[in-house]
Amino acid sequence: MRLGWRQEKKGASVSHFQENFVAQSAAVRVRFGAGVRHSIADEVRALGCTRALILSTPQQADTAREFADLCGSLAVGIYTDATMHTPVAISDHAAAYAVELVADCVVAGGGGSTTGLGKAIAYRTDLPQIVIPTTYAGSEATPILGQTENGRKTTLTSPKVQPEVILYDAELVRTLPVGMTVTSALNAMAHAPEGLNAQNRSPMSTLMAVEGLQAFKGALPKVIANPDDLTARGETLYGAWLCGTVLGQVGMALHHKLCHTLGGSFDLPHAETHAIILAHAMSYNAAAVPELLEPVSRIFSGPSAGLAIYNFAAAMKAPLALRDLGLKETDLDRAADLATQNPYWNPRPIERPALRQLLQAAWAGDAPAA
Ligand code: NAD
Repeated sequence: MRLGWRQEKKGASVSHFQENFVAQSAAVRVRFGAGVRHSIADEVRALGCTRALILSTPQQADTAREFADLCGSLAVGIYTDATMHTPVAISDHAAAYAVELVADCVVAGGGGSTTGLGKAIAYRTDLPQIVIPTTYAGSEATPILGQTENGRKTTLTSPKVQPEVILYDAELVRTLPVGMTVTSALNAMAHAPEGLNAQNRSPMSTLMAVEGLQAFKGALPKVIANPDDLTARGETLYGAWLCGTVLGQVGMALHHKLCHTLGGSFDLPHAETHAIILAHAMSYNAAAVPELLEPVSRIFSGPSAGLAIYNFAAAMKAPLALRDLGLKETDLDRAADLATQNPYWNPRPIERPALRQLLQAAWAGDAPAA
């Protein structure tokens, strides 16, 4: 594989040039800044809207009420039933409520679950969305909607689903407990290495993946040391935006397939599962494309991409073992079978024995092989 000319010179600054690529970016307005949520009303008006429906989870109803106050007469309702994995019944109900209120935009304030509800309403009604993230999940930066119905999770991609405006306000992630901060950050970071070795990567997606990982490497330890450090919180949001944008631009591979299998069929929690699987999935792929994952070992100072991330996750006190999330050892064979069926494109062929080994190590919390 031919690398960009500067990449060929070890230690020199890196070019991510590729001879052939397609790069496609969505038209999204992004604003950063501690306190930027105070501009929600301006953003509603800038969209040409006057009737905003505010969304949250039940746990973040106070945030929704604050946003409604900030919108004043531009807010026509609050819907606080956003739920993990976007159940179709709730989305149908919320979309009907938006129609009943004659809402002309949605304001989603929360993590991936609330963003997911806003996207589901937009998919059904084509209303524009303003998303104000309070975790690092990154969903706000993608045209992807995951939904669940009858215990099955399906994913669709549509321009209707892509949020039009994102307000990143560091003050809002300050309340994220340290444990969730770490797992949510690793969830976001997982989008980057998948982008680095994606079949349809571009120099743009690679640049964003590298910069996003660098942001988390620098800022996450500072946030853990001082959760009120708004500059570091802002930088982690910057990492989440970049990594989320990568997720929206390229196809995801083994890591996301494994996490969707474990979340969908064994009901494991989203961010924690990503946090554990990441090092192992990278180790699996680094055996085939070490040059593409080299930025990960360089940024996180490890002998290989998988070990570098494993050591970083351990230092951040992230969960390391699937068994601690409630997965039984007897489930591993079925998990390997399911993850081998309808595989996503992956730079290394999906081989069941190797995958079963990967799952064993992730279940036990062992370091990846390399
Ligand atoms: P979440 O949105 O469910 O949040 C978890 C819990 O934390 C909720 O109770 C929430 O109210 C609370 N919370 C959120 N922010 C908080 C804060 N700042 N302070 C205190 N509590 C807070 O979880 P998540 O990990 O952000 O999102 C997971 C969901 O997002 C999954 O359904 C996943 O599939 C989806 N997702 C989708 C995409 C996409 O592109 N479609 C990308 C990433 C994640």
